[in-house]
Amino acid sequence: MYLAMSVPASITALTARTPELGALLERWAAINSGSGHAAGLERMRTSLRNDWVRAFPAAMVEEIPANAPGYNPAGVCSLSLRLRPNAPCRVLLCGHYDTVYEADDAFQTCRWLDAQTVNGPGTADMKGGLVTMLAALQAFEQTPHAAQVGWEVLLTPDEETGSHGSVELLRAAARRSDFGFVFEPGRPSGDIVQSRKGTGTVMAICHGRAAHAAKVPNDGRSALLALAGFVLEAAKIPAEMPGVLVNIGNFHGGTAATNVVPHWAKAEIDVRVTTPANREPLLARFRELADRVNAIDGLKLELQGGFNRPPKECVPAEIRAFAEWQRAARDVGVAPFNWVHTAGASDGNFLSEAGLPNLDALGPLGDHLHSDREFCRVETIAPRAQIVALFLHRVAAGETTLPSRR
Ligand SMILES: [Zn+2]
Repeated sequence: MYLAMSVPASITALTARTPELGALLERWAAINSGSGHAAGLERMRTSLRNDWVRAFPAAMVEEIPANAPGYNPAGVCSLSLRLRPNAPCRVLLCGHYDTVYEADDAFQTCRWLDAQTVNGPGTADMKGGLVTMLAALQAFEQTPHAAQVGWEVLLTPDEETGSHGSVELLRAAARRSDFGFVFEPGRPSGDIVQSRKGTGTVMAICHGRAAHAAKVPNDGRSALLALAGFVLEAAKIPAEMPGVLVNIGNFHGGTAATNVVPHWAKAEIDVRVTTPANREPLLARFRELADRVNAIDGLKLELQGGFNRPPKECVPAEIRAFAEWQRAARDVGVAPFNWVHTAGASDGNFLSEAGLPNLDALGPLGDHLHSDREFCRVETIAPRAQIVALFLHRVAAGETTLPSRR
């Protein structure tokens, strides 16, 4: 029989906090913090700041501008808390406080589906993760060797739109840390994430030649038809390149008048790859398809954009940490779970690119993210926080070793 190592009392006690943690989640989820809603983001940041400062009065708190003109509304900031930055081991806990639901979205309030399940904007992605992070650190701070581990919490306002304003902060925090934890929601099964695809957006803009639709013979060149042919071919790329995803996200073109050969069309295409080595061949394939259109007199197809988040590939330090993570889970009584590949990207991708090994999808269990069916299973917040706290306690006690990067 397996005998669990002793679990500090403050960690065991977390389960009794479930009702209070559920209420905190409901309070945070009730604040609209859509990535484009500056006033909402500010309200959310103020609320987070108050709650985190109350929990950790000794932490150094900073609000750092996350400017990204064209992506982020002016004035949005990341919130950073650091405690014991000179401790022998330093960890980074990351989360975003923006959601995909903007100020005018119909989905604004929480509703309890049953005693343990709350449906509401951002409950899983990822305000539930932020509650987990807070509860875990509160329990960890009361463990006997906590002084051995310094932590940094980075809460960002723009993950859902690509982290354009916070990517440099993430990279800088990654460089001064030994290990990272990302609190995106756990899979509905409880699995966490091992690797993530890299993501990007390709814009295809086609210029043709306008003419009267009734002109015979017609010397117009339809940008709309040319681009339609292009996107149909682009959609076939995944069949040739395993691990690649291509989604034609939108398609616009033409004019209000139907008796005009359309001179303009534009499509935005979501692209994803599993390994960095796929990026260039994928973009080259897009260029090849564009060249076919450009070979026709009177048509011009330009490509813009490219990759944003690089793929997150699993590294040996993460394999070792995952084994310890599972051991901590077993010792707090959490049922076994696995870790999986996912096509969705997160800020864990940027941490990996900066060389910081990290575990991702550590937040509570939930599902239907980015829809009005989004929910969080509140009874999983405390157990997930217990895993984090016990893992950190074991690092602090020297029982679990993290790779030193400095
Ligand atoms: Zn998220």
